[in-house]
Amino acid sequence: MNLSGPSTLALQRDFDLCALNSFGFPSRAEYFLRVETLDQLRQAVALARKQGWPMLMLGGGSNLVLREHIPGLVIQMALKGRQVASPEAGTVLVSAAAGENWHETVVWTLQQGCYGLENLALIPGTVGAAPMQNIGAYGVELEERFDSLLALDTESGDIRRFDRDDCRFGYRDSLFKSVAPGRYIILEVTFALSQRPCPVLRYQALADALALRGLTAPDPEQVFEAICEIRRRKLPDPAVVGNAGSFFKNPLVSSAQCEALRERFPGLVAFAAGDGCKLAAGWLIDQCGWKGRRLGQVGVYHQQALVLVNEGGGTAAELLQLSDRIRGSVRERFGVELEMEPRLYPA
Ligand SMILES: Cc1cc2nc3c(=O)[nH]c(=O)nc-3n(C[C@H](O)[C@H](O)[C@H](O)COP(=O)(O)OP(=O)(O)OC[C@H]3O[C@@H](n4cnc5c(N)ncnc54)[C@H](O)[C@@H]3O)c2cc1C
Repeated sequence: MNLSGPSTLALQRDFDLCALNSFGFPSRAEYFLRVETLDQLRQAVALARKQGWPMLMLGGGSNLVLREHIPGLVIQMALKGRQVASPEAGTVLVSAAAGENWHETVVWTLQQGCYGLENLALIPGTVGAAPMQNIGAYGVELEERFDSLLALDTESGDIRRFDRDDCRFGYRDSLFKSVAPGRYIILEVTFALSQRPCPVLRYQALADALALRGLTAPDPEQVFEAICEIRRRKLPDPAVVGNAGSFFKNPLVSSAQCEALRERFPGLVAFAAGDGCKLAAGWLIDQCGWKGRRLGQVGVYHQQALVLVNEGGGTAAELLQLSDRIRGSVRERFGVELEMEPRLYPA
């Protein structure tokens, strides 16, 4: 079925999403559209609203657990374009459209002499999904480099600008993820970057990797290289082994709870976070003996207990069973509740 209009859309039925989710789970969308222009996106949203179809925005599919049947319309975001605005006092605003690849955008900012995103290199997915869970890695979270974004309000049809405070960023969280899920479609993100190198080396594994290379005052490219090298070594490549990166958030607990746990478990790995502490979920899972274990066709990655993997032929249903078992073990042993980081769809 084609939709008429200035830029015609080709609606596809019973569309195979296996190659579009990084777990590689079998999944089929009732309807599917890829949108390359704002006009196409507006048409897609209007169609879904008219038909009463549920809508799922899809970026790179690297933070999703897709069930086998996806009712309604899946819209793949493919808006492209990047630009650098004129710098002011060393700060430079850089904008990228939602469908741009995240890692390629990081590389491009470095090529433009705009620094600040290098610690977030090699995170899979798109620019538009990055604010959803305030992506973070190696001591930097997106919100620290964020200026604003433009989003389409699917209820009113208006395009709205969100400043940093509007986005209610938190640890792997934002307004778009938890307060108004599905309401806004992110179109473009603007970052506040620096023309002066501003390396953030507070993450121990990064500092150690740089020290090993004899780099005490690394430039942004050297930080970028070190991050890529660490990530390639530690994390499975979704093109080879299906996964969505960290499967659980690091649980936030009060300082008192953290101390009580540390008394019982002296090796507890925890970091100060706000008024309380963030526990290393990978350590908790590892202590319960899950690292490297397999349940059917899914399992826990042998090098990092926080990463659940599709060994080949697994399904979302199997993964959820494994996830429940892991959560049960951690609850029983530590009295701590683990929360899933990727979005399960349909919930
Ligand atoms: C190997 C690996 C390593 C990873 N490492 C990290 C890491 O270090 N740090 C980290 O934070 N994450 C990490 N992730 C998770 C993931 O890469 C990020 O969350 C990424 O931002 C998801 O982007 P995506 O385009 O694939 O989003 P998708 O999985 O396609 O979508 C994720 C969510 O965002 C919504 N969405 C997507 N695009 C839009 C849009 N334009 N507007 C509105 N909603 C939208 C979707 O509906 C869904 O709810 C990792 C994943 C993998 C596989």
